[in-house]
Amino acid sequence: MTAASLAFDPAAARADILARIALAAKASGRAPTDVTLVAVSKLQPWEAVAPVLAAGQRVFGENRVQEAKGRWGDVRAEHPDLELRLIGPLQTNKAREAVAFFDVIESLDREKLARSLAEAAAAEGRCPRLYVQVNTGEEPQKAGIIPEAADAFLAEVRETYGLPVEGLMCIPPVDDAPGPHFALLAAIARRNGIAKLSMGMSADFETAVRFGATSVRVGSALFGARA
Ligand SMILES: *Cc1c(COP(=O)(O)O)cnc(C)c1O
Repeated sequence: MTAASLAFDPAAARADILARIALAAKASGRAPTDVTLVAVSKLQPWEAVAPVLAAGQRVFGENRVQEAKGRWGDVRAEHPDLELRLIGPLQTNKAREAVAFFDVIESLDREKLARSLAEAAAAEGRCPRLYVQVNTGEEPQKAGIIPEAADAFLAEVRETYGLPVEGLMCIPPVDDAPGPHFALLAAIARRNGIAKLSMGMSADFETAVRFGATSVRVGSALFGARA
């Protein structure tokens, strides 16, 4: 066996993940095209990201504004169909930069940030598609609005700040079974008339699809373990 045959192959991993997404979608009576694979490229070397881009992947998730701009700024000129999503916590002092750069921001989770995003959108003349992050496990160290405050927060984002909300996002506690968290997120979305659900990562994306995910955020299963 050669060294090359032992190396992790991100393009092959992508094909496998897309096939598993399609199977999970069909098993729950959904179309595979209902689920978008968000390739989480944070902290990955470009040698791992390039083959996935070459294989046709166009939706990528990043955790940090600076890292994303450094990595994707030039690539985007060559690939205008790229869709870049911010999935990590956003500080208000980076809101304008994030609004100018990202197509989607998935981590809207507090009033101060809603206000900053609304001001930034007005100043930039563009507004990324927005997801509200819900802390379904109510973990103190984790970002996200707690479930019982979600309805009021969504109303405030939409009415007070005039921001459209495309979807909800969650990151279940690592030690919990994810299903109940995905079901909770889906229930909050349903009663608030929200169609999109960003949920499921490397370890649980098939479960997430069964619970209605419209996008899954997959990093290590796609690119290999992060540095
Ligand atoms: C890092 C990260 C992911 C991807 O995690 P994996 O377990 O590597 O798939 C997904 N979502 C968010 C918000 C992340 O920060």
